[in-house]
Amino acid sequence: MIRYCQVHNIPYRRCGKVVVATEESELPRLQDLYQRGVANGVPEIALIGPEQLREIEPHAVGVRALHSPNTSITDYRQVVDSFVRDIESMGGVIKTGQEVTAIEQTDQQVRIKTKVDAFATRHLITCGGVYADRLAAASGGALDPRIIPFRGDYYILKESQRHLIQALIYPVPDPNFPFLGVHSTLKMDGSMWLGPNAVLAFGRESYRRSDFNASDLWETLSARGFRKLAFKFWRTGLDEMIRDFSQKLFVKSIQKYVPDITADGVDLGPSGIRAQALTAEGELVDDFVFDQVGAIIHVRNAPSPAATASLPIGEYIAKMAADTFDFHRPVAVAQS
Ligand SMILES: Cc1cc2nc3c(=O)[nH]c(=O)nc-3n(C[C@H](O)[C@H](O)[C@H](O)COP(=O)(O)OP(=O)(O)OC[C@H]3O[C@@H](n4cnc5c(N)ncnc54)[C@H](O)[C@@H]3O)c2cc1C
Repeated sequence: MIRYCQVHNIPYRRCGKVVVATEESELPRLQDLYQRGVANGVPEIALIGPEQLREIEPHAVGVRALHSPNTSITDYRQVVDSFVRDIESMGGVIKTGQEVTAIEQTDQQVRIKTKVDAFATRHLITCGGVYADRLAAASGGALDPRIIPFRGDYYILKESQRHLIQALIYPVPDPNFPFLGVHSTLKMDGSMWLGPNAVLAFGRESYRRSDFNASDLWETLSARGFRKLAFKFWRTGLDEMIRDFSQKLFVKSIQKYVPDITADGVDLGPSGIRAQALTAEGELVDDFVFDQVGAIIHVRNAPSPAATASLPIGEYIAKMAADTFDFHRPVAVAQS
């Protein structure tokens, strides 16, 4: 992604990241993360002690940390705008405002109906995000893993406390949850976002606490996998919901590694919806899931960092298509 930004003149900043262990019990997981980073060729990562941590993040505390000096940030909107230009310059067409309502596959072609149009194609790749499971099911694929929407709110550090965090500070991930935990995100404009929390959203596009979609919610609550998950983690879920309504409790999770931040030092910012894949057995899926039904490939789960890793993921999917799609089948591609 850094190379892509360089080639396309998209500004980025090499700000670095620290993953901070605040308790001895987190050290084996931190060590594991370090070893995986080394195995995957992440450049210059190092395990550092509290003094070195203070040199990088003067207001952070921890027993040990993982430092990745090459971790960088960019403005992803500019990346996506550039992807659009790439696609169009190669003869591709991007159509927006076309909600897909039906997908039908015959021996000869795939028919796609949208709210405004209909298309016929030989092959189809879907990447539906929070609706990925519905698109897969619409074309005869399995409904599981299902997508459960989790809302994540961000808080923005006020100018008066902005000096307390330099760049990206993350907690050690909890292996039971695919969520990254509340962390700091430096934006290209210099602002510092804190979050996100992870609360069950009452609809797939329920970006605000008050948003509610009865049929989405019923679909979630009646899913076997969700009931199993809720039974196992009801306490964590409840704590998250309580924290959702308390700025003080939210800030407390940041104070674990930056104690000087205060509850009145942050403003409520925007929210996002995380499309979380869940198996029928109640397991949260934290890896990529692609599946294929004939001439259709579904990207069913592309969790974070799927934006950062979009280029290698795209390559992987293109290879999957090249290996399995029959590109030589002589069928006319038409729009009706
Ligand atoms: C709050 C938040 C912060 C994140 N931060 C990062 C980060 O810092 N770095 C990182 O790498 N990743 C991050 N991610 C994760 C990243 O956004 C996702 O991994 C990535 O967007 C997944 O890509 P996708 O193409 O699968 O789905 P999406 O990006 O959700 O795209 C799906 C698209 O399909 C469209 N669609 C859905 N249904 C239909 C339909 N029926 N008809 C037509 N179109 C449809 C949607 O409108 C959408 O445009 C973050 C996610 C969240 C929620």
